Amino acid sequence: PAFITVKELSEKMKINPSDIIKKLISKGIMVTINQQIDYENASQIAEEYGFLLEKKEENEDNLEIMDKEDDEKDLLPRPPVITVMGHVDHGKTSLLDAIRKTNVTQREAGGITQHIGASVVEINGKKVVFLDTPGHEAFTAMRARGASVTDIAVLVVAADDGVMPQTIEAINHAKAANVPIIVAINKIDKPNANPDRVKQELVEYGLVPEDWGGNTICVNVSAQKNLGLDDLLEMILLEAEMLELKANPNRPARGTIIEAQLDKNRGPVATVLVQKGTLKTGDVIIAGTAYGKVRAMFDDKGRKVKKASPSIPVEVLGLSDVPKAGDILVVLDDEKKARSIAEKRKEKFREEEMMQKQKISLDELFNQI
Ligand code: GDP
Ligand code: MG
Repeated sequence: PAFITVKELSEKMKINPSDIIKKLISKGIMVTINQQIDYENASQIAEEYGFLLEKKEENEDNLEIMDKEDDEKDLLPRPPVITVMGHVDHGKTSLLDAIRKTNVTQREAGGITQHIGASVVEINGKKVVFLDTPGHEAFTAMRARGASVTDIAVLVVAADDGVMPQTIEAINHAKAANVPIIVAINKIDKPNANPDRVKQELVEYGLVPEDWGGNTICVNVSAQKNLGLDDLLEMILLEAEMLELKANPNRPARGTIIEAQLDKNRGPVATVLVQKGTLKTGDVIIAGTAYGKVRAMFDDKGRKVKKASPSIPVEVLGLSDVPKAGDILVVLDDEKKARSIAEKRKEKFREEEMMQKQKISLDELFNQI
């Protein structure tokens, strides 16, 4: 059955259609650019270029592994993923720490050793996931690579300092990514705190507070004095409920690398935010140019786990290489395939790097002349 036209396939892979047609001809398939080919042939061609094609697909992101769309009926509620943003020194780290601490149970108190770049907090029995990388770096880097990991942005604005350049930047990022913003007006314990002034400034950037007739939720908090944190968490839950966040947990996992590094004892270690499906120990995975089998997984509290469902961050061991933040992790059915795609990607990166270098040296040459 017809699956995709040569033209569409070439556009998705950014490969010259005549190259694809040549490959098809060598297989004995005569087609023109606007003709459709079947899934088998399309996926064989795709694999030769380091792409994996899945059935029932569409997905325009630059993942190189096109994603399978889930059936509405398979979707189940998932926890919201929150990113904390705001101007330097307005209290992002303090707020995250305070939220984490209020949530640490007696049992865990001594047990938080591992730090994995994301934390799961439970509020009234409901999970909320916070990405620890505060600020814009992660957000921007990931968005630039086509990955979107945030459901809600918490914008921290210090009540004694007001809207500052990075506050505005954060607002713009969140708006561009179409992510709802909840404002945490922090440091209200300070004698010179002026939440109303902050609200006034927010209006100038299109965020009209709810109590002023708009629809931006603003909560007064003090990360240092533990004030307003429950209100903030409650607002986050409310907003999350309205978003009706769902994912299919019963399929091979797909997620995004939040951070990764080389550990001298454990090898490449990557924190993955699972976004679809359930990631399990033993799964064959690929992320960027790294591939392997999930050897072990740890949750945000450092506990060993065997699986991770949508929105849950886990530390993953077993990759061949250190992936980049923002790389998409996909579970495949076959390690050989994972390896061959990873190798083709590496080749492609090398070629692109070389082209970049050649271009630079040519530019230099011309500049000298
Ligand atoms: P970040 O750069 O946004 O991560 O800000 P930090 O969390 O590092 O906080 C910057 C400074 O503000 C630190 O000295 C904190 O102790 C202080 N701070 C953070 N939250 C509060 C607060 O609610 N009240 C007061 N008085 N100080 C705070
Ligand atoms: Mg900080």
